[in-house]
Amino acid sequence: MRTPVGIERVNGDRLWSALMEIGRIGETHGGGCRRLALSEEDGRARDLFCRWAREAGCTVTVDAIGNIFARRDGTQRDAPAVAIGSHLDTVPTGGKFDGVYGVMAGLEVMRRLQELGLTTRLPVELVVWTNEEGARFSPMTMGSSVFTGDIALDFALSRHDPSGVSVGEALRRIGHAGEAPVGGRQFTAYLETHVEQGPLLKESGERIGVVTGSFMARYFVATIKGQAAHVGPTLMEQRHDAMVGASALVLEIDRIGRSRGRDGRSNAPHIELFPNVRGVIPEEVRLSCDVRHPDAGEVQAMEAELREACRRIAEERGVSIELEQYFEFGPINCHQSMNELIGETADLLDLPRRDILTVASHDAVPIMEYCPTALFFIPSETGISHNEKEYSTPEHCTDGANVLLNAVLRLAS
Ligand SMILES: [Zn+2]
Repeated sequence: MRTPVGIERVNGDRLWSALMEIGRIGETHGGGCRRLALSEEDGRARDLFCRWAREAGCTVTVDAIGNIFARRDGTQRDAPAVAIGSHLDTVPTGGKFDGVYGVMAGLEVMRRLQELGLTTRLPVELVVWTNEEGARFSPMTMGSSVFTGDIALDFALSRHDPSGVSVGEALRRIGHAGEAPVGGRQFTAYLETHVEQGPLLKESGERIGVVTGSFMARYFVATIKGQAAHVGPTLMEQRHDAMVGASALVLEIDRIGRSRGRDGRSNAPHIELFPNVRGVIPEEVRLSCDVRHPDAGEVQAMEAELREACRRIAEERGVSIELEQYFEFGPINCHQSMNELIGETADLLDLPRRDILTVASHDAVPIMEYCPTALFFIPSETGISHNEKEYSTPEHCTDGANVLLNAVLRLAS
């Protein structure tokens, strides 16, 4: 048995092959990945992860929301663990890096610790959080939010996908409805590495992005109600077309984000249309939308503009529009001592780094309220994510895993 000293390094080739191998589960024609939360593909990826984690000497436990904990004991068996993790689910048009990179980097840390025969003082736990993306079941960051108590377990289990399958049923189908109670595990700290989902690191040339905080994001559903009528005989002046109201609103939402320059974001990425039939003027549209900015005051202002746009478009188009908020995150400030740990570890490894804000939520965001948390990014070569072209180089993937390994060793030794 050795105790850790100095700098250790992961096996970058092994990390890359693990990423590529698990990426074949749900692989798309364009080289991306479609592995929706708790789908058959997600189940296979989870099973493969569990096998690899056991082979790396970990004990695997699954909780009632399907979060997987792969644990490597320390010399102080009852001490709170140093936790690392991310997610294996993807959006339908996903890549091979978002989420799964953080899990495979964590697995490589476990493999390297085993190979080196290192026993840390504190236990180390690698976590796969259930349904981070929220693409099949809403809300997103589900497993981590149930773990911290932000979302009730029963509520999460009852969420269903568009075909009516609940989270509870989907967990049973893939054999990942675990028996361990949710929550109650003590963490000394939590670390997550993730691919950057934008172009900033690539643009500025740094190799590690230390996430110091987040944008604030507020999410809404706009319900636009008009009147169904025959598409032919109905005069233009007679119409109350919910789709036309929604279209005007989409353009306004886009304008609100663009008017804030590079700090503004706004989206209307999901629409439900009723009755969605060729011969009938649309009666009702439900449009999901969000506004984001690093400054909470600006988010308030963006929301006010959005509400004003709803009021004006409703009047102009003869429809009614109701705007209901359903989710919010940030702005968060990450733990300074954890940021310093990541920064110093990157310096030790001679990896140029910069501070960066996250615009998207990650599992680290709910966990931040639970224990000291660090989130850090590696560059995206293509600057794009939630896309088949998502790509980070083997070197960048190795960098992040090296930072993770050495940060874990400093926390757990
Ligand atoms: Zn992710």
